[in-house]
Amino acid sequence: MDLTSYAELAVLLVNRKHGLRSLEALRDLLSETGRTEAAARATRRDLDAICELREELTGVFESAAQGDAADVVERLNGLLVRHPVHPQISGHDGQSWHMHLTEGGRVADAVAVGSVMGLASVVTGLGPDRLGICQAPPCRNAYLDTSSNKSRRYCSERCASRANVAAYRARKRNA
Ligand SMILES: [Zn+2]
Ligand SMILES: [Zn+2]
Repeated sequence: MDLTSYAELAVLLVNRKHGLRSLEALRDLLSETGRTEAAARATRRDLDAICELREELTGVFESAAQGDAADVVERLNGLLVRHPVHPQISGHDGQSWHMHLTEGGRVADAVAVGSVMGLASVVTGLGPDRLGICQAPPCRNAYLDTSSNKSRRYCSERCASRANVAAYRARKRNA
């Protein structure tokens, strides 16, 4: 079971900065990540629950970016209690037998369990310092650092080059 793709879902959720304004926006996000069946089933109630979840996941990334590992773990443990896993073995669409984390539940529960388990797996497998917030102001997007030397500081190439330009200008001003 590849939990990294679930952790990526958490990142995508956090980075919908202006929240998920409509059910359409939620459906787009789910479709984009290949969750078409969930996209078709999502309701208003799912949207409300996922917006709340988004706030909580943002808190996890903020704590990680501040280097507060104990708080990251506390927040994730709280989320794990509230979003229990209901695993089932599944083998649809010609795929080999694999685990599903939540079968048949509400879309919001599946999204919550997936993103929380994904982040928990990154934190335990790689370390809490692998969750970060982009350091190119005013961006503050979340990212996962899966680099071998833990060198990531920006959410994207675009933010990295923007930060480089800003640092260059600052050096020139000071020279
Ligand atoms: Zn499956
Ligand atoms: Zn950024």
